[in-house]
Amino acid sequence: MEDCIFCKIVAGEIPSRKRYEDEEMVIFEDIHPMKRIHLLAVPKEHFATIAELDEGRAALLGRIFLKLGKLAPTLGLGEGYRLVINQGEYAGQTVPHLHIHLLGGEPLDW
Ligand code: AMP
Ligand code: ZN
Repeated sequence: MEDCIFCKIVAGEIPSRKRYEDEEMVIFEDIHPMKRIHLLAVPKEHFATIAELDEGRAALLGRIFLKLGKLAPTLGLGEGYRLVINQGEYAGQTVPHLHIHLLGGEPLDW
């Protein structure tokens, strides 16, 4: 999608510190880390929130979570981590392309 910063990162038009990539998602470092490790898992397909899920996208997200569980130790998150998906501006979503924050690398308070 035009003018979507994460679509541009997916397409390689904007640089990012990529940690993982396959045919349907990328994982890269958040530019403003909130914890010692702060990564973003981003489906390559553009959609903004889980309100836009259909069966195909739900299955895609399921595969992404399956991969995250397996990849976490290779990303420095083996001790535990937090997954966050902000939904809408009211919840603090600033990039309207669905993404999963992976936070860790240190003990996390709630
Ligand atoms: P959210 O507020 O949930 O929409 O999260 C968007 C996240 O994207 C924020 O944590 C930003 O720091 C991060 N972000 C914005 N632009 C970039 C970028 N060019 N590269 C990496 N992370 C970014
Ligand atoms: Zn996008």
